[in-house]
Amino acid sequence: MKKDRLAYFRKRLVDKQRQLVEEVGRTALYGKDQEDDSIKDLGDQANTAYNREFIFELGNGDRRLLREVVSALQKIDEGSFGSCERCSELISDKRLEALPFARYCINCQRAAEEEERMATG
Ligand SMILES: [Zn+2]
Repeated sequence: MKKDRLAYFRKRLVDKQRQLVEEVGRTALYGKDQEDDSIKDLGDQANTAYNREFIFELGNGDRRLLREVVSALQKIDEGSFGSCERCSELISDKRLEALPFARYCINCQRAAEEEERMATG
């Protein structure tokens, strides 16, 4: 991949990383606030428990995404960015444009999702 193209993806990944770090940080703080409120106001406990569960899931998704963004940045440093981790084929430019942190080409992504579905039943 050309240097200026790599620099472009690196910038997009760094921006995404910064945004996610802020998001995860905020979620953690918000979760803490919710916990404090539940101690103060036990009457609202059910509602708070529901919110906390929702926030927890959101936080997990962001953390997973953050890991993928970090690993994509590592791949830029290693020179393997843009290649599928399963079949080593080049990931299409269109796909990278939409998902700069994509680990697999579209075919392997489908296969991986299928395997995940089978594994979780
Ligand atoms: Zn592949």
